[in-house]
Amino acid sequence: MAAQETVDHKYVYDFSEGNKELKDLLGGKGANLAEMTNLGLPVPPGFTITTEACQAYLATGQQPDGLAGQIEAHLEALEREMGKRLGDPQDPLLVSVRSGAKFSMPGMMETVLNVGLNDQSVQGLARQASGGGGQAASGGADRFAWDSYRRLIQMFGKTVCEVPGEEFEHALDEAKSAKGTHNDLDLDADDLRGLVDAYKKIFLKHTGREFPQQPREQLDLAIRAVFESWNAERAILYRRQERIPTDLGTAVNVVTMVFGNLGPDSGTGVAFTRDPASGAQGIYGDYLANAQGEDVVAGIRNTVPLQELEQLDKTSYDQLLGIMARLEEHYKDLCDIEFTIERGKLWMLQTRVGKRTAAAAFVIAGQLVDEGLIDLDEALHRVNGAQLAQLMFPRFQLDHEFQPVAKGIGASPGAASGTVVFTSARAVEMAAEGKSVILVRRETNPDDLNGMIAAQGILTSRGGKTSHAAVVARGMGKTCVSGADEIEVNVPAKRFTVAGQTVNEGDVVSIDGTTGKVYLGEVPVMPSEVVQYFEGSLDPEHIDNALVRAVHRIMTHADGKRRLAVRTNADTGADAARARRFGAEGIGLCRTEHMFLGDRRELVERLILARAPGEREAALEALLPLQRADFEEIFREMDGLPVTVRLIDPPLHEFLPPLEQLAVNVAVAQERGEDVAKEEALLAAVRRMHEENPMLGLRGVRLGLVIPGLFAMQVRAIAEAAVACARGGGVAKPEIMVPLVGAVQELETVRAEAEKIIAEVVGDSGVEVLIGTMIEVPRAALTAGQIAEAAEFFSFGTNDLTQMGWGFSRDDVEGAFFWRYLELGIFGISPFESIDRDGVGRLVRIAAEEGRAARPGLKLGVCGEHGGDPDSVHFFHEVGLDYVSCSPFRVPVARLEAGRAVVETGGSDSR
Ligand code: ADP
Ligand code: MG
Ligand code: MG
Repeated sequence: MAAQETVDHKYVYDFSEGNKELKDLLGGKGANLAEMTNLGLPVPPGFTITTEACQAYLATGQQPDGLAGQIEAHLEALEREMGKRLGDPQDPLLVSVRSGAKFSMPGMMETVLNVGLNDQSVQGLARQASGGGGQAASGGADRFAWDSYRRLIQMFGKTVCEVPGEEFEHALDEAKSAKGTHNDLDLDADDLRGLVDAYKKIFLKHTGREFPQQPREQLDLAIRAVFESWNAERAILYRRQERIPTDLGTAVNVVTMVFGNLGPDSGTGVAFTRDPASGAQGIYGDYLANAQGEDVVAGIRNTVPLQELEQLDKTSYDQLLGIMARLEEHYKDLCDIEFTIERGKLWMLQTRVGKRTAAAAFVIAGQLVDEGLIDLDEALHRVNGAQLAQLMFPRFQLDHEFQPVAKGIGASPGAASGTVVFTSARAVEMAAEGKSVILVRRETNPDDLNGMIAAQGILTSRGGKTSHAAVVARGMGKTCVSGADEIEVNVPAKRFTVAGQTVNEGDVVSIDGTTGKVYLGEVPVMPSEVVQYFEGSLDPEHIDNALVRAVHRIMTHADGKRRLAVRTNADTGADAARARRFGAEGIGLCRTEHMFLGDRRELVERLILARAPGEREAALEALLPLQRADFEEIFREMDGLPVTVRLIDPPLHEFLPPLEQLAVNVAVAQERGEDVAKEEALLAAVRRMHEENPMLGLRGVRLGLVIPGLFAMQVRAIAEAAVACARGGGVAKPEIMVPLVGAVQELETVRAEAEKIIAEVVGDSGVEVLIGTMIEVPRAALTAGQIAEAAEFFSFGTNDLTQMGWGFSRDDVEGAFFWRYLELGIFGISPFESIDRDGVGRLVRIAAEEGRAARPGLKLGVCGEHGGDPDSVHFFHEVGLDYVSCSPFRVPVARLEAGRAVVETGGSDSR
């Protein structure tokens, strides 16, 4: 036959036509049903209507041209294959109509079972089910048929016609209580027939029409309802939280029904091929005899562990085990499945690569390597830094005495205990008294910022992962549980109620920002096993801990693979030592400002207030030995490894008392007639130095150029400390970093002075001191070629680069409006959390390229918080930096992600 001029776009695929790679088109469920069909596994026949059909339907409100005909053709083929017709009064073919998007959205969209049943075909179904059996069999068959019919009306009513589901449930409860039972199995055929009548009345009352008796109409309406369920409110919310694109649409699977509710030799179950919580080998699942579909997860009756199926039906059990092994081997991963047994015959209804906890991800990846299913590169690809970070949070030491009283969304991980407070002001007060507090709100808003900063953790009864509370808490690295809706918060009364209990201000609660669970009382915390391993107190070779061994193995592989070095941001010897244990290969950012705090403040005041000649020099001279000692300690801890020291960066007035406080002090002292000359001088200085925009004011290199001797003192302290280390037999590798440079002239000026001092101090000690700069002002990035002439290294300060690149004052914007930006999708994640590749990232790219062009071998690193963010690490790998630097706890995450960046050739899928 000649090819037609116009061939209809293909919207419908038989299961035999698809495969697991077609998730975009067929959705996860459809693609995997096709895959299982093609593996020869027992899948009830059916077909999939594509996501493209759904997109077209949602765009126009109409089924696209050709879809109706294709559905018709596939349905006819299905009827031929099954030897039955949809809804045939004698022997009906029944189907389920199931949603299934590319990314699993559990419970978010709709499914209708038993489509094709009506007042006639219910009788035919009963007759077929009795299969000529005796009295008992036919009683059971009637029961089964009416049970199936009432389920159809219930699901169809709720899903397709928006009849409130509670009404059906209520009617079911009434039928049960009339019978004096709690078990739906005690309802007999007559009870269920009565229930069908009741359901039909409910349907009529809410829709103004009779329950549709035409099987094809049922099918069409159900398909439309599944399309539309893509835009159900909860589905939209879920996608936003999980960052699933909004325009994918869902596929629709039309699947021949198989029945787990045909009697005790039937049933339905769900299973995992390994334990999705721990990763332990062995099957995990639940089975429910004489039940259909959702009964298992709906919890209407108690399920039994899957293992018990062996006693009930050994043949099906063995077959199921075989299939699960086959699936694992085929998908090379943990799979979860849904199955149904119809009178001793096993049917597979769903499979997918299963979700798992962070711990299970590592354990399973390790096991699959042992089993020869994947190699270590693949294992590294299968885990990620976010999971590793989760495994490093301290955790609650949960004994049986602690039961959660509520569960919300794990919005920002960690484990926090503290005294409950309900207002930001109270949080600040109690925190000032040294108490650990948990701020409890219905939802936070920008006014709560101070309270959130003061609190150990944040608990809200509303809002999801992108709510204000969640976003701000994550930004601060603070534990947060959001949307714990069982909690009733009453702010004026200073209490909340949950599970019949009242919690007053001052009571203690504990919240787990990973699991979202809320506990009453103080749950003790402990470092995680993985941290103990990194700390060196658990030896992976000698302990029987599958998780630690898996982490060790995968980390070792990542270290072998990665090209990026990983350094740490550390300001003290203790931090440096810890980071070194965590695998840091040097310090990428040693801030010096804390060296001006504590009892040294007084010296800084003298430095700032200096009037008479010699005063400033004296203050600097007094600071010098103190700084030298600080550096010596750090160099010793980092013996043999590079240490990048940033010269003082923040505006100096940050070291002075706040203006208001000083003014009050002076006024009070004057009142009392005390001598206030010194305070007055200080107050005048603070007034003089006040800046409207301190982040854009006198700081960084500008200080060094304006305050004579300040940088010189620091450079001397660094060089002398390095020489002292060398004399003591150590190896110090200092790298002096000048902050906030925007023009090469700034750097040249500082450099000229520094070089003189270094030459003088170092002499023939063999110590080598590098001088470089931060690239954190956009102008520096854009003139990197010039700046490289005067710099031996660049370190990207991506926090400031983001602030100045976007014009965001970080302290102001995150709490004030980022939640709105996230809601609107202006960015998917805060640019302070993960680098903005297109904008700020472009500045990094330009500076890296032009800097290296001007000075081949220029050392490039990053020391912003992005250095520990998984996606940003991949970006820095792509741009070709030499190292990333991050906080000590992030070092293992950066090592892992730097390794993953190498094995992931096909772009960076960090979902
Ligand atoms: P979800 O995506 O919410 O899991 P499903 O489409 O998988 O929804 O279906 C809901 C329930 O109905 C599941 O337990 C599934 O196994 C069951 N089910 C779906 N289709 C059929 C069918 N053709 N025969 C028997 N049970 C089915
Ligand atoms: Mg399912
Ligand atoms: Mg900076």
